[in-house]
Amino acid sequence: MSPTSGTGGPCDSPFDSTYDNDCTEVLERVFSFIDNELPSADSVQIQRHLDECGPCLQKYHLERTVKMLVQRSCSEQAPPDLRQKVLLRIRQVQVEITRDDGEL
Ligand SMILES: [Zn+2]
Repeated sequence: MSPTSGTGGPCDSPFDSTYDNDCTEVLERVFSFIDNELPSADSVQIQRHLDECGPCLQKYHLERTVKMLVQRSCSEQAPPDLRQKVLLRIRQVQVEITRDDGEL
């Protein structure tokens, strides 16, 4: 018996049975994932889930787009018009996602 099978992970790697992440769990961490704040093991899990889960992938793209737009508007002060357009667009995408969910 050798419990020390260090396969690259740091001290604590809850890699055992938590392989199959719940969608909610993934979506909760998607922000940190976008910010690159997760340990590499965690981001691998998220990335893997996104590869297999369409709705989560859409949500991820949405969050990333919003984040990029917000960052951009912070640095050069987006006009209110643009802000409105962006918000409208986000709402449209969200409606599409909800529709997809409902059909399944
Ligand atoms: Zn998912």
